[in-house]
Amino acid sequence: MTTTERPETKCPTCKKRVIWNSESRWRPFCSERCRLIDLGEWLDESHRINAGPADHSLDLYDREPND
Ligand SMILES: [Zn+2]
Repeated sequence: MTTTERPETKCPTCKKRVIWNSESRWRPFCSERCRLIDLGEWLDESHRINAGPADHSLDLYDREPND
């Protein structure tokens, strides 16, 4: 048997192929940069949810004219 099976995955950020072994330090990401990009997007998303509705002026436009 001469199968050279190399487990691979795809970088979630740039979709580049990443060999899944101990040398791929940032797996499943291809690099530290891609890892930080993905983490940054995730943090940005959660921050937006925690921020809540900040613009109360929108309420004015929700009112019925004949209230
Ligand atoms: Zn990448």
